[in-house]
Amino acid sequence: MVHASKERTLVIIKPDGVQRSLVGEIIQRFERVGLKLVGVKFGVPEESRIEEHYTLDPEWKRRVGERAIASYTKKGEKPPSNDPIAIGDSVVERLKKYMSSGPAVVMAWQGAHSVELVRKLVGGTEPRSSDVGTIRGDFVLDSYAMSDSDGRAIRNLIHASGSVEEATQELALWFSEKELVDYRLLQEGILYDVNLDGILE
Ligand code: ADP
Ligand code: MG
Repeated sequence: MVHASKERTLVIIKPDGVQRSLVGEIIQRFERVGLKLVGVKFGVPEESRIEEHYTLDPEWKRRVGERAIASYTKKGEKPPSNDPIAIGDSVVERLKKYMSSGPAVVMAWQGAHSVELVRKLVGGTEPRSSDVGTIRGDFVLDSYAMSDSDGRAIRNLIHASGSVEEATQELALWFSEKELVDYRLLQEGILYDVNLDGILE
């Protein structure tokens, strides 16, 4: 069995994250929890790649639509459509424009529970309601209501894989095998060694 410390996840600092000069801050949050950077590239994502990324999971469009409808309903407001797939389709179109509007940082992070931990640090999709202390909650203010009325994607600084399965597919889409580096960080001893017998002289 593969050790838990080998789990990997895909993180993209979206164009707004780069424009807000948050690259260092965001990377620091993942570094300080103990995760290891194993791949990184910088560039303007192509629209075709963004479309591929968000259609890897055929169920994603429906889910994204359902979540938007639930968010409106919770606030006692009327959603822009009652058809989740229609919302999902328009979100993909809007994401293509948003994600290809400037350079982004595409990264692979590795460590125990990396998928879950990164999602926890990133926070919920809508910055208006994502928790204080998370990256989206602390550094940006967008909402479903404002992005819908302006006809654009929610600007929330980061993409992070939602499950281990999603991570595997997304990593394969953005990185070739040889672009991901297997190496050891000195601090991994204190995170993962079973016997901690390498400290005292
Ligand atoms: P997450 O990025 O939190 O995993 P999703 O996978 O549901 O969220 O959606 C992908 C991205 O699409 C979000 O990060 C956000 O930028 C955008 N988005 C999601 N839902 C909407 C929506 N209803 N309207 C506009 N943009 C949206
Ligand atoms: Mg997602």
